[in-house]
Amino acid sequence: MTTSAELRASFLDYFAQRQHEQVPSSPLVPANDPTLLFTNAGMVQFKDVFLGRERRDYSRAVTSQRCVRAGGKHNDLENVGYTARHHTFFEMLGNFSFGDYFKREAIGFAWEYLTVELGLPAERLWVTVYEDDDEAADIWLKEVGVSAERFSRCGAKDNFWSMGDTGPCGPCSEIFYDHGPEVAGGPPGSPDEDGDRYVEIWNLVFMQFNRDAEGNMTPLPRPSVDTGMGLERLAAVLQGVHSNYDIDLFRNLIAAAAEATGCEDLGDKSLRVIADHIRSSAFLIVDGVTPGNEGRGYVLRRIMRRAIRHGYRLGQSQPFFHRLVAALITEMGAAYPELVAAQAHVERIILLEEQRFAETLEHGMRILEEAIAGLAGKHIIPGETVFKLYDTYGFPTDLTADIARERGLGVDLEGFEAAMADQKARARAASQFGSDQGVEIDLQGETEFRGYERCEDEATVVALYRD
Ligand code: ATP
Ligand code: MG
Ligand code: MG
Ligand code: MG
Repeated sequence: MTTSAELRASFLDYFAQRQHEQVPSSPLVPANDPTLLFTNAGMVQFKDVFLGRERRDYSRAVTSQRCVRAGGKHNDLENVGYTARHHTFFEMLGNFSFGDYFKREAIGFAWEYLTVELGLPAERLWVTVYEDDDEAADIWLKEVGVSAERFSRCGAKDNFWSMGDTGPCGPCSEIFYDHGPEVAGGPPGSPDEDGDRYVEIWNLVFMQFNRDAEGNMTPLPRPSVDTGMGLERLAAVLQGVHSNYDIDLFRNLIAAAAEATGCEDLGDKSLRVIADHIRSSAFLIVDGVTPGNEGRGYVLRRIMRRAIRHGYRLGQSQPFFHRLVAALITEMGAAYPELVAAQAHVERIILLEEQRFAETLEHGMRILEEAIAGLAGKHIIPGETVFKLYDTYGFPTDLTADIARERGLGVDLEGFEAAMADQKARARAASQFGSDQGVEIDLQGETEFRGYERCEDEATVVALYRD
C-alpha cells in the first residue's frame, strides 16, 4: 500500500527530478493577502510571483501546501461528514511554472505522473477542459491520446480561473478518477456529477490572460501554470478505497477519536467529523490563530465547537478533543515539524476551549432538544431559539444547523437575524437613554454589549460582547 506520506514524497520527488524547486508549505494565515481568510490553495504563497511583483531564483516549483476551506469563498465545512471527498483541512500537491512551461508540459507531466509513475489505468481517468480551449483539447485528444468518451468541455464555473476581478486568469483542465459503478454519481459535466463516483483529483490552471477593469482580456507575455491535487483524494485512489476517510491517515485518526470518545462504531459519521476537525483546529493554532469571536478566530471556534459537540453526541461529555493532537502528530509530525514543536501549546488551547464550551453545551443541548420536541410536526427551528443558543450558550448558528440537519430539520436564519437586530436595537436605545440622561442604567446582563460585526463568511454574524 502507498501511504499518504509516501505519496507526498513521490509527488515532490517526481517534480524535483524535473527541475522544480521544492518549496515548503506556507502557513494557513496568508502573509501577503489580508483579503484572504486562509490559505486555500497551493498558489497563494506565489501570488506575487504570478503577478510579477516578486522575483524568485527559480521558474518552476513544487509544493505540498496545507490548506483550509472553512470560510470565505471556498467553504467546505458543510460538506464534512456528508461527502467522501471534502475536508476542512487538506494538503494540496502542486507544480508551478512561472512563465516557464505551459499547457503541453503541464498536461504531459500530469498524465505521466498518474499513469506511469503511479501506474493508474487510463480507463479510470476522465478529463475536462474549458469549452473554448481548443489548444488543451488537442493536446489531450491528439497528443496524449485520451479517449473522447472520457473527455468533455465544461463552462466557466468549474473550468475558468481568475485571481480576482482583474489580473491573471485563464482556462483550467481537470482530471477525475472513476471509483466505479458501485458508487453513486455521474461523470463530470452531467447533472448528477456531484456524487462521489467521479472524483475530481487534479486541477491544472493555465494562466493565460490578464483581465483589465473593463473586462478586456489580453494574452500574458509569459503564461504560467498553477496546479492543485488533493493528497487525500489521490491516496484514496491508490489505496483502493473510495472514501478519503478510509485512507491510512484517517483510519488512524478515526481510531484515535473512537478511543477518546468511547464510540465503538468506527463507521459513525461523528468520528469522521472529529478526525477532520482535529487537523484544521491543530494546524490553525500552529499557524497563530486562537479561538475568538471574530474573523479567523471565530471560524476556528466554530470548527472546534462542532467537533466537541460531535463528541458529546457520541456520549463523551469530558474534554477529549485535545487528546487527538498526539495521534495527529503520529500521522503528520514527520512532514510538519512545526506541529511537533507546538504540541503543548495546541493541546492547551484546545483543552481551554473544551472547558469553556463545556459550561454551556449540556444546558444548550437540553434547550435545543425541548425546542425540537415542541416543533409539533414543523421542520424549522425558530430563530428565537437559534438566537438564544447563540447568545447565551455559545452555539454558533452553523452548529445548531448541523444538529438540525441530522434530524432532517432546518433553522430559521432570518428569524435569528431579526432576534439579533432586536437585541441590538434594545441595547442601542438603552445606551442612548444612558448618555442622554447622564445616569448609569442596569442593562440586566447586557452591560457588556459592544456591538456586532459580520465576518467574511456572510452567513455568520459575530457578537463582540461574548467572551
Ligand atoms: P470540488 O469540486 O471537489 O469541491 P474544487 O474544484 O473546489 O473541488 P480546486 O479548487 O480545483 O477544488 O482544488 C484543486 C484540488 O484540491 C481538487 O481537485 C481536489 O483534489 C482538492 N480539493 C479541493 N477541495 C478539497 C477539500 N475540501 N478537501 C480535500 N481536497 C480538496
Ligand atoms: Mg470545491
Ligand atoms: Mg470542482
Ligand atoms: Mg476544481
